Amino acid sequence: MDRRRLGAMIATPCLYSTALSPECGGKLIQLPGVAVPAEATQTYFRKGFGLKAQVAPVIETEYHSGIVERIRSRGYADRFGDVTVRLAKHFGFCYGVDRAIDYAYETRLQFPDKRVFLVGEIIHNPHVNGRLLESGIQVIEPSGGGFDFGDVTPDDVVIIPAFGVTLADMRRLRAIGCVLVDTTCGSVLLVWKRVHSYARDGYTAVIHGKYTHEESRATASQVTKYEGGRYITVRDMAEAEVVGDYMTGAAGTLSRDEFLRRFEGRCSDGFDPDEDLQRVGVANQTTMLATESLAIANRLREMMADAFGEAHAAENLRSFDTICSATQERQDAVLELMQEPPDVMIVVGGYNSSNTNHLAHLCREYTASYHIADSACIDTATGWIRHKPELDPDAPEVVTREWLPAGPFVLGITAGASTPNNKIGEALVRLLQIRGIDPAAQSTS
Ligand code: SF4
Repeated sequence: MDRRRLGAMIATPCLYSTALSPECGGKLIQLPGVAVPAEATQTYFRKGFGLKAQVAPVIETEYHSGIVERIRSRGYADRFGDVTVRLAKHFGFCYGVDRAIDYAYETRLQFPDKRVFLVGEIIHNPHVNGRLLESGIQVIEPSGGGFDFGDVTPDDVVIIPAFGVTLADMRRLRAIGCVLVDTTCGSVLLVWKRVHSYARDGYTAVIHGKYTHEESRATASQVTKYEGGRYITVRDMAEAEVVGDYMTGAAGTLSRDEFLRRFEGRCSDGFDPDEDLQRVGVANQTTMLATESLAIANRLREMMADAFGEAHAAENLRSFDTICSATQERQDAVLELMQEPPDVMIVVGGYNSSNTNHLAHLCREYTASYHIADSACIDTATGWIRHKPELDPDAPEVVTREWLPAGPFVLGITAGASTPNNKIGEALVRLLQIRGIDPAAQSTS
């Protein structure tokens, strides 16, 4: 075996190990085949390296869960002792995350003798990011409004995450001349395309999203592709109505200065609400609550039509027709589950994961719901659960002691698009342990 490749594998014991648990087994497996040589001159890749067959078994080993597969194979419902478990029909990794993880693993294999960097996080899941770090991939940390690429050289490889990066960061990376592996999700690219069309045609992009989220920042930056491109980011319906009031001059509207203060840091440079809210187009961060994004677009149209007439609204307000289908499916699956709300609902996923936060937020409307980052939030010794009870990603965790019904109960479970199945399975196993139930001892007939 090529010594440099062997060295890379030794330096990456977890990623390419035979470990069946998330803890590193430290053993190496022989990956079938060898890295495919890429064109020597090619420095931009967004279709992988044809190594899917080699990395698939590794990824499967890392993130598979037997108990989750068992429930899924039984029609998304199963019984463990006195606990009936219902799994949402769409949960966990989405196609964009699957692809990003696949490409990251392929990249490590393709470039065993190069330094590989990742811009921030590949997805919002600490365990997946941790596995990539263990493989020797280095993280480029945020710095100021962008990322610090000071350490990156033309000899290095840089992975762009599923949320994408801002235009400014992309230009800086291209200027360095390093190899770029772009895992930006196709659904995010569709939103960018729409924002481009707004900026090109003189419409200000009103982006429903959280401005500090990587994807929203990258989407907002797309307006700069066209001279005079403008954007403003709104967090929710209440903020959209503030924009709508200013746009239509409704009673109680903020003054120009108040408006600019309210949206400071969330508008394009030189934003002038008097000029820049005359023609607007709505776009969204793909992981927001889809129904809220659509409601915001409809409300702005309604406000404009009430103030200036339907014809004016039709001419001066554009909307979107692209909602990430994976986000939508996960939200719809939760709503289906809630047609008969379970007694207790668990939502597993990173606290900074937008789509996980929205799933938990939906569930809270129907039943006792607990958003947990991972299984460590369930304490089998005390029986307590540590969870984040609010939508805000920065809301503090709380501990709840009496959270499980004394008698038989129905448990619902789902997970955000960045949560691997093994993390769902581990959480479920811990809950069952509190009840003294050993899932392995349960009948599988
Ligand atoms: S949630 Fe949607 S947009 Fe985001 S990575 Fe997944 S598929 Fe792509």
